[in-house]
Amino acid sequence: MKKRQVVVKKSSSNRTSSSVRVRYGECQKNHAANIGGYAVDGCREFMAGGEEGTAAAVSCAACGCHRSFHRREVNEVMSEGSATSGV
Ligand SMILES: [Zn+2]
Repeated sequence: MKKRQVVVKKSSSNRTSSSVRVRYGECQKNHAANIGGYAVDGCREFMAGGEEGTAAAVSCAACGCHRSFHRREVNEVMSEGSATSGV
């Protein structure tokens, strides 16, 4: 059995890296679920209620719901480097 070693290089000078940006859209929490209805609070976009890493960061400052109730949008952002230059 061969041991396979995976080395992850962390390079801060990598210019062609792509990053994934996650933003949270409208709130989809059903506030009328307990009465058998459907009503959302109308919050259009998640705003963190506190700093990243704290408990408040995952609750919306606008409507107070947990971040998971908000629609998750993932955008892959390609940082522009020298990819378009001629070879
Ligand atoms: Zn909400």
